[in-house]
Amino acid sequence: MLPSDEFTPNPPLFQFDNTYARDLEGFYAFCTAAKAPAPQLVKFNRSLAAELGLDANALDSAAGSAIFSGALAPEGSATLAQAYAGHQFGGFSPQLGDGRALLIGEVIDRNGQRRDLHLKGSGRTPFSRGGDGKATLGPVLREYLMGEAMFALGIPTTRALAATTTGETVFRERPLPGAVLTRVAASHIRVGTFQFFAARGEPEKVRKLADYSIARHYPECASSATPYLALLEAVCERQAKLIAKWMHVGFIHGVMNTDNMAISGETIDYGPCAFMDAYDPKTVFSSIDSQGRYAYGNQPVIARWNLARFAETLLPLFDNDESSAIALATQTVNGFTDRFSTHWLHGMRAKLGLLDEQPGDQELAAEFLSSLAGQDFTQAFRALSQGDPPANTEWAARWRARRPSLESMRQVNPVYIPRNHNVEAALAAAVQQQDYRPFDVLLEVLAKPFVERPGLEDYTKPAPGGNAGYFFTNSATLSGCGGNTGGSGSLPPSAFANARSKRFAIST
Ligand code: AMP
Ligand code: MG
Repeated sequence: MLPSDEFTPNPPLFQFDNTYARDLEGFYAFCTAAKAPAPQLVKFNRSLAAELGLDANALDSAAGSAIFSGALAPEGSATLAQAYAGHQFGGFSPQLGDGRALLIGEVIDRNGQRRDLHLKGSGRTPFSRGGDGKATLGPVLREYLMGEAMFALGIPTTRALAATTTGETVFRERPLPGAVLTRVAASHIRVGTFQFFAARGEPEKVRKLADYSIARHYPECASSATPYLALLEAVCERQAKLIAKWMHVGFIHGVMNTDNMAISGETIDYGPCAFMDAYDPKTVFSSIDSQGRYAYGNQPVIARWNLARFAETLLPLFDNDESSAIALATQTVNGFTDRFSTHWLHGMRAKLGLLDEQPGDQELAAEFLSSLAGQDFTQAFRALSQGDPPANTEWAARWRARRPSLESMRQVNPVYIPRNHNVEAALAAAVQQQDYRPFDVLLEVLAKPFVERPGLEDYTKPAPGGNAGYFFTNSATLSGCGGNTGGSGSLPPSAFANARSKRFAIST
């Protein structure tokens, strides 16, 4: 052995390349995480670690516990809290920002994709306002599970790399175990990030952020004659595709505030989200959404509303003449409706096993849904993919005449979704009894949502009493939805009145 080899330091655990920190000074505050007193890694996602090119064995360890709880900053990291604003339930908050989260840094994964590593629940930051900057174990595990379930369903999403308990007690309405989620995202740029700088009258910063977003997520827009309009179109397209996918599996995000909409087109910020059991477009799971602003059936309308707020931040980049800029933006945002319908119908054809496109497909899909009223959404599509016709024989005859492919239907209609009663039971066992077996089993079931397996029948069934009145009332689940920061907890008198308010340049 050459003498110099003895002194070769261990390679760093992460090969960071932190463009946000480097290129966007003024868009964040450098900040260190709170030191967790007794960090313990309770979940570690080895396959995601491998995808990120990380050494899973080295990280599934005490070193990993320290890093993923924030107690130890890994070599090459540049921990920072990102600034952002946002419309929460229709009302604008000019300064939100990472109040309990930190970007650790960016890595390039095995597919050459840049991914953010991010801690949630890592303590106070300059954006914490009245909050403690902490997260509790229940919501951390919920976000872990939901993100992984969405990933397995083929829906763009942030993912969970690790969950650690901190050894600290966090007080909500009662004492709860503190925890930190390590989240992986294409980026954490939100509609609200653009709003932060637009609202402060800093168009040059908006331009810089748009240029950064184009380079990172939409490089094809750079060569457009109108790159910023192309960016708006591209974001509308990805959101249309994303929301259509949510609708196809019955996912309800629950808090579609503009600060929870990622420019990358990934699902982000799992709070009081859930999958609908019985089909009803008015389904709402979150008790803080008493007016149904973010109900299942309202999600496409809200996405377009959020995109209009995004477009407003870009107006000065579209045209020097404000009315021309507004006209261009309005046309593009209104185009969301057709984009969404196209993706929705494409996915519904797949769910119904239709191998070609015919006039009347839209009606065929819509009629199937209206015939579902009150029936379990997931089971109804799965039953159809087993050849079980619905009670409506006239509809069944029309559907059969299309010679649907049952085989292809079974690849897009899940057997297993994260049903809320199963999720709650798994979280309760983990949080109250430190028993992670139900959580691990559920994670495993949801990892292969389309493959029916004997012995797992219970996971295919809706909650015994139905989902009527299913509300997130427990503060462990709700923490961070504005409850302790005054953010989104209080609804304006009429959330939708804001949508028509004259103060918006773009009406949708
Ligand atoms: P969320 O409900 O997670 O989308 O968060 C909305 C806003 O409230 C974000 O700016 C968060 O950083 C902030 N926030 C939520 N919970 C806390 C907390 N416990 N401490 C500080 N800020 C928080
Ligand atoms: Mg959020």
